[in-house]
Amino acid sequence: MKPLPKEFDVLAIERKWQRLWEEWGIYRFDWNEYSRPTFSIDTPPPYPSGEFHMGNVLNWTYFDIVARYKRMRGYNVFFPQGWDCHGLGIEVQVEREHKIRKRDVPPDKFRSLCMRLVEKYIAMMKEGIIRLGCSVDWTTEYRTMDPDYWRKTQLSFIILYRKGYIYQGTHPVNWCPRCETAIADAEVEYEEREGKLHYIRFPLADGSGHLTIATTRPEFIPACVAVAVNPTDTRYNRYLGKRVTVPVVNRHVEIIPDDAVDPSFGTGVVMICTYGDKEDVRTVKRHNLPVIMILTENGLISENGGKYKGLTVEEARKAIVEDLKAEGLLEKIEPVRQEIGLCQRCDTPIEILERKQWFMKTRILTDRVVEAAQEVVWYPDYMKYRLIDWARSLDWDWVISRQRVFATPIPIWYCRNCGETILADESWVPVDPKLEKPRIDACPKCGCNDFIPETDVLDTWMDSSITCAVHAGWPDRQDWRRLFPADLHPSGVDIIRTWAYYLMVRHLALFGEKPYKSCLINGMVLGSDGRKMSKSLKNYVATPEVLDKYGADAARQWAAAGGATGSDIPFRWPDVEYGRRFLTKLWNAARFVSSQLTDYTPSSSGFELRLLDRWILSKMERLTQRVTEALEKCQFNIAIEEVRNFTWHVFCDQYIEAVKDRLYKPEVYGEAKRRAAQHTLYTVLYRILQLLAPVTPHITEEIYQHMYAEHVGVKSIHITPWPEADPAKIDEGAEKAGDLLVALIAEIRRDKAEKRKPLNALIKLVRVYAGNAENAKIIEKNMEDVVGTCKISRLEVLPQKGEGRQVPQYPELSFTAQYD
Ligand SMILES: [Zn+2]
Ligand SMILES: [Zn+2]
Repeated sequence: MKPLPKEFDVLAIERKWQRLWEEWGIYRFDWNEYSRPTFSIDTPPPYPSGEFHMGNVLNWTYFDIVARYKRMRGYNVFFPQGWDCHGLGIEVQVEREHKIRKRDVPPDKFRSLCMRLVEKYIAMMKEGIIRLGCSVDWTTEYRTMDPDYWRKTQLSFIILYRKGYIYQGTHPVNWCPRCETAIADAEVEYEEREGKLHYIRFPLADGSGHLTIATTRPEFIPACVAVAVNPTDTRYNRYLGKRVTVPVVNRHVEIIPDDAVDPSFGTGVVMICTYGDKEDVRTVKRHNLPVIMILTENGLISENGGKYKGLTVEEARKAIVEDLKAEGLLEKIEPVRQEIGLCQRCDTPIEILERKQWFMKTRILTDRVVEAAQEVVWYPDYMKYRLIDWARSLDWDWVISRQRVFATPIPIWYCRNCGETILADESWVPVDPKLEKPRIDACPKCGCNDFIPETDVLDTWMDSSITCAVHAGWPDRQDWRRLFPADLHPSGVDIIRTWAYYLMVRHLALFGEKPYKSCLINGMVLGSDGRKMSKSLKNYVATPEVLDKYGADAARQWAAAGGATGSDIPFRWPDVEYGRRFLTKLWNAARFVSSQLTDYTPSSSGFELRLLDRWILSKMERLTQRVTEALEKCQFNIAIEEVRNFTWHVFCDQYIEAVKDRLYKPEVYGEAKRRAAQHTLYTVLYRILQLLAPVTPHITEEIYQHMYAEHVGVKSIHITPWPEADPAKIDEGAEKAGDLLVALIAEIRRDKAEKRKPLNALIKLVRVYAGNAENAKIIEKNMEDVVGTCKISRLEVLPQKGEGRQVPQYPELSFTAQYD
C-alpha cells in the first residue's frame, strides 16, 4: 500500500468525486432490481429562487445522509430531484426585472420570459446540490413547467373533479391586488402593524341620535351592510332591529345582534362590510347579509363606491375621512396595533374579494389528515402537531385557481350558448384550453359547438402536491405502488402547512392513501446573532462562500452537528472551521496509518492482539452500535459527534500514540505484535470511514480509494455494506483494562509536558502505585506499552496505594516520575 500524500486539496477532491460518482452512476435507482428492498425519498422539488441557501444546505444534508446510510444498508435507494417552476414568485421577479406587468405583453411572451428565468435559477441551484455532494439520481430530473408534468397535474385535476372533490363557486378569497390573483391561506403572512382606529358617528334613521362605531377601515363604509352589537351589551341592545344611516352614502342598514362582537373593543359597535376582514365574511354568512363588492381586481374602488370610484384604497380612505370630518361625523382617531395579512410573494396587504374560483374540498378530509398524521413517523415526533393544528385551523376550502399566466392550465371549457362546463378527457392532456378546442363535436347539453376556454390557471401547489405519486412513476408505470407511499418526506418546519399538508390532502383524495411513511423536519438556519438569517439583518451567509472556503464535507458536518432534527440551527463559522480541522485530523491519521501499512496485506491471522488492540476493537463495535442507532432515528448530531470524538480522541490521541513504539520497533516487540497493530489500524480506520461516509462523503471516498478499494473490491465506499455491530466482539474486560492503561499513559505524558520536558525525553524512573493487585497485574502485563510510549528507563509497579500524582478517574492509582 502506498502512503497518502501529505497535502490534500479539499475542493479539488470534492469536484473529482462529484464528477466520478455521476460517471459511474452509483446513485441510480435500479428499476429492474427486485431482490433488495427499496427506499424512496420524496425530495421536495425546490421553487427556483436562484439561490441554494444555507437552509437548503441543512435540508439536503439531512436527507442525503439518510439516502447514503440506507444505500449502505443494502436498500435500492430512490433519490429523485425535480424543480417546482410555476408560480407567482417567478412572475413577480419577471415583472420587476423587465419593469412590466403581466398584461403588458402577450401571454406566451410572458411565459417564455418566466421559463428563461427559471432555467437560469435551476442551473444555479443544481450547482449547489451537486457541490454539496448529494447522492441524487439525476436521471430522474424533471420540471413542473414541462408539458409532460402538466399532463400529470391535469390528470390529477380530472380525477379529483370526477370524484367530486373539485367545485367552482363564488366565495370570498384572499386576494393580492398587486398580483391580481386569488391566493390560499398558506400564502398569506401576518404582520403586526400600527393602524388607526376611526370613531365615526352613524345617525339613527329615526333621527333620535347616533351610534359611534370604531373601524380601522373607513374606506369600506360604502360597502357597509349592517351594524352589529353584542346582544348581551346593555348599552346597546335596546337599539337592536332599529336602523342607522350609513354616512357618506346615506343608505339605511339594520342594527343586528352578533355574539362575536367584543364589547370591549372600540365602542362595542362595529360595522359589517363586504369584506373588511375574515370576521366580516363569517358574519355575512351567519346573517345571510347582502354583498356589496367595492374593490376591483386591481385594488381600486369600483362603481359600488359611488363618487370614490377609481381611487386606490389609500386615496379612498383619505377622501372619506375628509368627508366625514366635513359632516362632523368623525369623533376622533386613535393609534391601534393590528394584524395585517400580506401577500407572501410581494408583501402587499391582501384584500378579500368575491369572484368565481375553483376550489378543492379539503376541509372534509380534515379527520383523515389527522388520522394519517398520527400514522406517519415524524422526526422529531412533536412536529406532527404542526400539521394537525394547521388542518384543523382552516376556515375555507383550498382555492386552487389563480388569475395568472405562468402555471398549469385548468383543463376546462364552457359552452358559449348554455354555459355547460366541459372537462377535458384523460386522453386529451396535456392541454391548454386557450390554444385548443375540446375534442367533441358539440355541447352535450345544447348541441352548440362554440366553446370558451377557462383562462384561470392552477395554483402551483397543485403541481407540487402530487410528487409522492409522480416520483413513484404514476401514472405511467404499472408498478408505481412499489415506491408509494414514499419512505421519507423531508420538509422545513416553515412549510409543513403547505408542503406536508397539500401532499396529504391530495394523495388522500386521489388514492385514498397517505403519501409518505415518515416526515423528516429541519429547523430554520439562524444567523450567528441567533436571529433568523436574512439579507436585511446583515447576518446572511451565502452558500458558495462557505463551500469555497471550507468545502462540502465541512459544511455538511455543520448541518449534521448543529442540533437535533427540527430545531433551529445557528450558522457559526467556527463550527464549519471545526469541521474542516477534523478533516485534516482524519487525513493525517489516515496518512500515518497508510505509512505504516506499506508492507501490509490484509489478513485475519498471523498476528497477536495486545490489550490495547482488543480495547479499541471493542470500542469500535460499541461505536458502530451507537452510530447505527442514532442514524436509524435521524439523530445526525449524535452520530457525527460519536464518530468525531472517537476518531479524534480514542483513535488518534490514545491508540495511535500508544502503538507507535510497537510499530517502530518490531525487534523489541516481535513481528506478530507489530502485525497486530497494523491489523488494528487498518480495521479501525476502515470502520471510521464507513461510519463517516454518509456525512462526509468526499474525504472518506478519497481515503477509501487509496487504501481499501482494491482489497475490499467494491467500486465506491458508498456502496460498501454498512458494518453490522457485532455484540460478540464487545470485550468488557479489555475495555476496562485498556481504559486504565490509557489513563495512566496519558497522565504520565501530561506530567512530562507540565514539567516542560520534550515528549521523547527519557524518564529515569516511574514508580506506579496501582492501588490493588488487579490494577498492578494489568499494568505489569502491558508494561512495554507504557515504557515504550512514555519513554521510561525503569518502571516499577507496586500493588498498594501510595504517593505521587493521581490518575484522574482512578483515585487508587498514582505514580512518581524521576528525571535526570
Ligand atoms: Zn402579491
Ligand atoms: Zn351548451
